[in-house]
Amino acid sequence: MKQDNCIFCKIIAGEIPSQTLYEDNQFKVILDVGPATKGHALILPKEHYANLYELPEDTASDVFKLAKKMMAKMTEKLHCDGFNIVQNNGEVAGQTVFHFHMHLIPRYKNDGEILKYIAGSPSQEELAEIKKIITE
Ligand code: 5GP
Ligand code: ZN
Repeated sequence: MKQDNCIFCKIIAGEIPSQTLYEDNQFKVILDVGPATKGHALILPKEHYANLYELPEDTASDVFKLAKKMMAKMTEKLHCDGFNIVQNNGEVAGQTVFHFHMHLIPRYKNDGEILKYIAGSPSQEELAEIKKIITE
């Protein structure tokens, strides 16, 4: 279902232009207008779902199948050296457009450090406590 104030719904409906790399009845893959690297693309489901919590399981698995296909094609054409797959859920996680999307970010040798996080150093006891919270 299209959402009136959603920029990605408007792109999918063709109301806002985009550079489209791939399209089928379920997905559109477009170039990001604010790319982290050359070729940074977004997989958009045509149906509006705010995030991965809302995405149906079948669609979620189809997104990953398409990501794999796009990665292969983009690696061949762009000669990139690696890929980051990024998918933000919620404002606190950096999500700015609340229509599910998966970032496909080609990486090139010496393209600079992007997407770094500072690794913590929890004790084994702390890790065990977190495991307990999640699994019990
Ligand atoms: P998020 O931060 O929600 O994970 O990512 C949103 C992404 O959408 C950003 O990388 C941003 O550059 C991209 N974006 C926002 N508006 C537009 C637009 O109108 N067209 C395209 N192609 N990308 C957009
Ligand atoms: Zn939408």
